Amino acid sequence: MPRVGNRQVSPPLEMLMGDDPRRKLTTRVVHAGHSVDPVTGALVPPIHLSTTFARDPGGELIGPYLYARAQNPNRQALEVALADLEGGAAALCFASGVATLSATLQALEPGSRVLYGAHLYHGSRALMERIFALRADLTFEAVDLRDLSQLDAALARRTRLVVAESPTNPMLHVIDLDAVIARAHAAGALVLVDNTWPTPLLQRPLERGADLVLHSTTKYIAGHCDVTGGALIARDPERPLWHRIADVQATAGAVPSPFDCWLTLRGLSTLAVRLRAQVDNAERLAAWLADHPRVDQVHYPGLPTHPEHAIAARQMARPGAMLSFQVRGGVSVAAGVLGGLRLIGRATSLGGVHSLAEHRYRVEGPDTQTPQNLIRLSVGIEHHDDLIADLAQALDGA
Ligand code: PLP
Repeated sequence: MPRVGNRQVSPPLEMLMGDDPRRKLTTRVVHAGHSVDPVTGALVPPIHLSTTFARDPGGELIGPYLYARAQNPNRQALEVALADLEGGAAALCFASGVATLSATLQALEPGSRVLYGAHLYHGSRALMERIFALRADLTFEAVDLRDLSQLDAALARRTRLVVAESPTNPMLHVIDLDAVIARAHAAGALVLVDNTWPTPLLQRPLERGADLVLHSTTKYIAGHCDVTGGALIARDPERPLWHRIADVQATAGAVPSPFDCWLTLRGLSTLAVRLRAQVDNAERLAAWLADHPRVDQVHYPGLPTHPEHAIAARQMARPGAMLSFQVRGGVSVAAGVLGGLRLIGRATSLGGVHSLAEHRYRVEGPDTQTPQNLIRLSVGIEHHDDLIADLAQALDGA
């Protein structure tokens, strides 16, 4: 039976049928979390805006819900869906991706040591180094997770949690998840994998032994750049840590609204077709950019020239729809290319149906490690000829 947070729930039969593990993931993604409304027969789930739920004259709750911050039907449906799709046993949804990491860190025992990938999304690093390292009794160490000897050395000191992301944002480094998980477990540490970029359709960290999977559902899961959210999925919800994270979710309250959850679940149902179109486009764009005379380097795990191409081919079903490239000529040329785009949006964020480009080093601030001539591309579902034509005219004009 699925679990929501640390509570066992009995979803309607139809919800369970959508989650039938014998079906293909591309089928399950359409139906996961959906059920026919037993009162109205509505096929599309209603949005339950009520913040509170009634009791009968004897004081018993009429349904399984008490108060919307603690749980509500739309969040429950999304949590059931995400747990199913990641192959986990339970999921918890939060107000954003970083709120998800924040809740995880809040739940760690005082004195815990956390190792994190040196190339993680800069917001995740900022949360650990700028907020938690100063305020909580936690210690953090950045490790280049591509370098397993560096990881071994760091794990020689007692570690509670290893936080990995693969491919990394925005350099597209690929981390050998099997090697990191095996080493961390041998040292007694848990492993959290940020699976936002690949999604459960392209990479399955829990099946590789990871303990927790994190998503910024803002990105591919919701898929339309119109809702912010996050989720954490557990392989083993019996662990005390999971109970504490669930407690932080309900008690600290960084939860998504019912409408956010509804939008996210609606977006999720088209993930497989969106992602297929996006990866098809990204593969073409990466190959085209790699041959362009004004492009110095393309970072895309699908290219045979990518240093971790073989690892990506082993642990990802396809190389994803994110890529970055470095233009010849430095910061002003990169700014010029971005300025010349007419179709591809100039905006941060990723994973939506519209292609977006970003001069990443400008967004990350003074402590950025990102090369100044790097442009990150979130490839959308437009026709690849139009995307290539837009990049061609922007590169030629810069
Ligand atoms: N993880 C990754 C890999 C991301 O790229 C991002 C945002 O870009 C986040 C987490 C944070 O997500 P959110 O903006 O929903 O807090």
